[in-house]
Amino acid sequence: MGMNLFIHGGTVIDGTGAEPFAASVLVQDSKIMATGAQADRQVIHLDQVKRIDASGLTVMPGLIDSHCHLSFDDASSNLEIFHQRRNALSALVASYNAKKLLRAGVTSILDPDSVFANSIDLRDAINAGYVEGPRMACGAYALITAIGGTAGGLIANEGITGYYKVVHGEREIVQEVRRQIKDGADWIKVHVSGLVPHYAHLGERCSWSQKELDLICEVAHDMGVPVMGHCRGAEAVRRAVNANFDLLFHATGMDDEAEQAIIEKRIPVCPSLTFQANIAEFGGQIGTSQALIDLFKNEIQDSIEPMKRLIAAGVPLICGSESGFTAVPYGDWHHREMEVFVRYFGMTPLQAIRSATADNAFAMKMSGQLGLVQPGCYADLLCIDGDPSQDIGLLGQTQRIRHVIKNGQPVDLSPLPPHDRLSGWHIPTMGNRISKEALMPLS
Ligand SMILES: [Zn+2]
Repeated sequence: MGMNLFIHGGTVIDGTGAEPFAASVLVQDSKIMATGAQADRQVIHLDQVKRIDASGLTVMPGLIDSHCHLSFDDASSNLEIFHQRRNALSALVASYNAKKLLRAGVTSILDPDSVFANSIDLRDAINAGYVEGPRMACGAYALITAIGGTAGGLIANEGITGYYKVVHGEREIVQEVRRQIKDGADWIKVHVSGLVPHYAHLGERCSWSQKELDLICEVAHDMGVPVMGHCRGAEAVRRAVNANFDLLFHATGMDDEAEQAIIEKRIPVCPSLTFQANIAEFGGQIGTSQALIDLFKNEIQDSIEPMKRLIAAGVPLICGSESGFTAVPYGDWHHREMEVFVRYFGMTPLQAIRSATADNAFAMKMSGQLGLVQPGCYADLLCIDGDPSQDIGLLGQTQRIRHVIKNGQPVDLSPLPPHDRLSGWHIPTMGNRISKEALMPLS
């Protein structure tokens, strides 16, 4: 028999985009049983109720992050992920990092692809209660063609490396999609576009034929499994939409035709611009080259008008941080995409919260059951000091988060024990360039 929770005295943001309202929330087992006057009436008849006084706090759905790579351990480069990581150790480390997410109010994530596809095992361990962490929906290995994915020349000519698998031709596509589904993938992930070595000046290019992308979707959809794609550039977006992809990451560099295709099918887009926003704003302080800073600034700038048009046309924009890299460490930036949506795309804070909660439930394949403070929905909640409908940035102030409830259970928010560096985990560098002129100036 589960616990009953009565959260009273707080102001509720329900995740639908509606204005905040004062209401109690009654939780029974894993679900929200009632809100408002109904909750106040029903609680009287229950024994064993744990009461949470939420006076002065905002009660809202736990955040959902639809782009979080929990196995990358804040990597500084793809090289690290491809060549420095071990399977069991990376899963163990991910189970520690999972707790950082809960402490930041993140109660669900979509992990699109992971080192050794081990997020699937972490998901199962969390679901069974062996490990504490957010709900997870998972892809397995990102499907990629040998011509190069986002990692350009680092992509091997075949096989599995890090988080991806190179597939050649129809036979391997069918085999791999079916194998991933059998192994427990909730989604199939495809790197639809990539930087092709020697052609990097052309930007990311679609690295699959239409026929290949069609086949991926055909095989996955036949099993009822959705397909998500990393897509930059018009051709990649167009082909992914034609193939009936269910979710697009980035979708930057679109042309009118690509944009219209998304609008016609109302395919959710997860722009994942947190990484770019962080490098654009803080890159100067962490040694990022000016060229890269400018590149990312432009990517945000170029996205503004197209994304505004998608929003106006009713296409769901959902929030993903792409956490898992040094520029977007776990636990720190899961709110940031909402800030990007407000600052650049003209959303109100309440609309941005809906993107990170009710709309994001789509990525968890739990639309209508998660990301809402409504009777019948799963009780994933957070209580925060302050009003995020006035200042979305509050959600990034973790110290303001007073309670996190996942699946009806209060989460222990006490600080995590510190840890040391793992040897051989990160890429060792030889340091900066030694200039002979600087060291041995001619006298
Ligand atoms: Zn990603």
